[in-house]
Amino acid sequence: MFGVDGEVSNDVYVFRTWCFVFVWPKGNNTANTSPTAELLETDYLVVGAGASGMVFVDELLHRTEDTTFVLIDRLSQPGGHWNHAYSFVRLHQPSYFYGVNSELLEGEKGKIDYASKHEILTYYEKVLRKMLDTGRVVFLSQTRDMVRFNR
Ligand SMILES: Cc1cc2nc3c(=O)[nH]c(=O)nc-3n(C[C@H](O)[C@H](O)[C@H](O)COP(=O)(O)OP(=O)(O)OC[C@H]3O[C@@H](n4cnc5c(N)ncnc54)[C@H](O)[C@@H]3O)c2cc1C
Repeated sequence: MFGVDGEVSNDVYVFRTWCFVFVWPKGNNTANTSPTAELLETDYLVVGAGASGMVFVDELLHRTEDTTFVLIDRLSQPGGHWNHAYSFVRLHQPSYFYGVNSELLEGEKGKIDYASKHEILTYYEKVLRKMLDTGRVVFLSQTRDMVRFNR
């Protein structure tokens, strides 16, 4: 079940969103088991913990005082397509200019650094941890068969 309405608050249009999350017992994906359903209320339901989703949540977290987010991804950790990259793949631009505003993706001091896949994924994990620490973000991973929305 999925519902939306909206209001203007602190110059930001805030959508009130409700979503039912169906959770199947771990390790059992047969039709014989019934999921438990949990109703989560949030201001924003963000689909995808890649660069776009992470930047969106990071910006609004820091521009508002009490906005809440449910961030979902079918993968088990943030970072989006970088989770699928070969280990030798690196950024095309210097690390300094990449990532969310609140956390610098640092390279080696004094060098123009192009972060590796591993560095980028570690970075997004750190960013997510800080988001979760605010208490305003819930991250649901591996959501492919878990979250259902009906308008
Ligand atoms: C080799 C390489 C180097 C790059 N270098 C740079 C660079 O230097 N600077 C730069 O700015 N950009 C760079 N980019 C591009 C940049 O990384 C991407 O544009 C950006 O990461 C895309 O982020 P995204 O969140 O839009 O998409 P993605 O990274 O694809 O993330 C989307 C996420 O949404 C999830 N998702 C999608 N649909 C659903 C669903 N229905 N339910 C649950 N989850 C869902 C996916 O699992 C995924 O995790 C580079 C790209 C590559 C390939």
